[in-house]
Amino acid sequence: MAKTRKPGAVRKRRRKVVGMRARRVGHPMRKTSKPQAKPEPARFDVRALDHVKKCGPGTSVQVLFRVDERSAGDSRTHLVFYDRHGWYCEHGRDCPAVPHAQREARKFGFTGAAHAASHHGSTHNGRMRA
Ligand SMILES: [Zn+2]
Repeated sequence: MAKTRKPGAVRKRRRKVVGMRARRVGHPMRKTSKPQAKPEPARFDVRALDHVKKCGPGTSVQVLFRVDERSAGDSRTHLVFYDRHGWYCEHGRDCPAVPHAQREARKFGFTGAAHAASHHGSTHNGRMRA
């Protein structure tokens, strides 16, 4: 017959939480001097959208970007436009997604500069090649 074993004793092993160690960002023990600011750096994925399809053929919007913002445990989507009034996000001009869209626009040659009004009818430039 088996001797008396302590059934609970061996099973007390805890799983190692490896993933938690790798992510040091936003650790609750760590307080920054700025309590208001979010410590985690968010990631921004910028994608060009077809502004005509989205806003209609008569739109004054020249460029349209969808920006997916991802930070730790949170994500939201932005729509960033450029028209004759300048750059703005659906959340406002000061939205953090705006500079990311600007940078992406510059990559394919679009300069959202103030002199954009002098470029008449150059919208074909923004087309993506398949
Ligand atoms: Zn936004």
